[in-house]
Amino acid sequence: MSLDSAVERRKETQTGPGTGNGNGNGNGNGVVSSSLPSYSTHRLRLNPNTDHKPDSYEDLQLEFSPLLFSSLERYLPPSLLNVSRDTKVQYMREILLRYSPEGERTRVQRHREYRQKIISNYQPLHRELYTMHAANFFVSSFLEAINENTEESFRNIMSEPSPGVLTFEMLQPRFCELLLSEVENFEKWVHETKFRIMRPNTMNKYGAVLDDFGLETMLDKLMEDFIRPISRVFFPEVGGSTLDSHHGFVVEYGMDRDVDLGFHVDDSEVTLNVCLGKQFSGGELFFRGVRCDKHVNTETQSEEILDYSHVPGRAVLHRGRHRHGARATTSGHRINLLLWCRSSVFRELRKYQKDFSSWCGECLSEKKERQRQCVAATKLELLKREGKTAS
Ligand SMILES: [Zn+2]
Repeated sequence: MSLDSAVERRKETQTGPGTGNGNGNGNGNGVVSSSLPSYSTHRLRLNPNTDHKPDSYEDLQLEFSPLLFSSLERYLPPSLLNVSRDTKVQYMREILLRYSPEGERTRVQRHREYRQKIISNYQPLHRELYTMHAANFFVSSFLEAINENTEESFRNIMSEPSPGVLTFEMLQPRFCELLLSEVENFEKWVHETKFRIMRPNTMNKYGAVLDDFGLETMLDKLMEDFIRPISRVFFPEVGGSTLDSHHGFVVEYGMDRDVDLGFHVDDSEVTLNVCLGKQFSGGELFFRGVRCDKHVNTETQSEEILDYSHVPGRAVLHRGRHRHGARATTSGHRINLLLWCRSSVFRELRKYQKDFSSWCGECLSEKKERQRQCVAATKLELLKREGKTAS
C-alpha cells in the first residue's frame, strides 16, 4: 500500500485521485513557437471575461478535461485571450500542473515525514502485534471459516441482522488486551513528548491511526488474507474482491472521550469494525440502509433500520456506504478497531456510472419504479391497440 493512498484515505469526501489519464503534451500537432514569452509568473485574472468566447479543446489529448481548459480560458490575462490555441493550452497547462500533482506531492511527502518521525522515536510495547500471527490473533471458528473459504463456511460463523451487516466472533480477548495496551502506550508517548498527532478522521477527536505508528504491514495482511475473502463473497458489487488499500485506526468513546458519532458514511468500500473493550454501556451502532453519493440523504425504509450492540472481540462488517452512526457511550470506556478497506478499481469505475442499483437502496427503488411504469405503459398501449382492432 502506498502512502499516497494513506493520505487520500484521511479525507472524508470521496474525491478520486489523479487527474485523468491523458499523456499527450497538449500541443496537438502544433509546435510552440520559440518566440513564446516566458511566463515566469503565470497568473489568471480574478474575474472571468464573460464576453469572451473560449476555444474548444475537445480534439486534444490533454491530461485535464477539455472543459476545464474552456472555462479557465475566460480567466486568462487580456493579452492572452486572442493568441493561438496552442499558446493558451501551454499557459493553462502549466498553471494546472502547478496545482494538482505538486500539491499532492507535497502532501504525501509531509505525511511520509510525519510517519517517519513517529516510527523512529516511538518504542512499541508489544512487538508481537506488528506482524500477523493469525493463530494468536483470531478465534478458531474464524480461522477455520477463512481456511475453508466458502460462502457456506462464512455463513456458518456469521449472523446478518439486516441485509449487508455481517457480525461474527473474530478477535481473541488476549489480542484485544494487547492492542489496547499498545494504543495506551502510544497515547502516553504522544502526551509525554507533546507530539502533535493527526486524529483518524474529521469526526473523532480521540483515537489513533494504527498505520502511523507501525501497524500498517500487519493490517494490510489482515485486509488481504482475512477481509478480502469475505468481501469477495458478500460485497462483490462494491469492489469487495479488489480491496487494495486500507486506513486502520482506533476510536475511543466515553464521558471523557468522544461521546457519540453522528450519522455518516465511511470513506471505504468495506468497513471492519471490531470492539476491543473495555467495560461500557451504551454506544450502540445504528444502521440506516446503503446509499450512493446522490442519495445519501434520502429516507430510510423500515426494513433498513438496525441497532446493534457491541460485544468485545466481535466484528461488524458492512459496506462503507451503509449509513450509520454510534449512540452515546453512557458509562465506562469503549475502544473500537476500524479498518476502512478500499478498492482503487471500484473507485475508478464508479466515475463512469450513474446507476448504483446493485447496492444503493434508493437507486434500486428508482429502477423498480421505472420498470413498473414501463410495464404499465406497455399494458396501456396494448389495450389501446386491442380496442382499435375490436372496433
Ligand atoms: Zn443511489
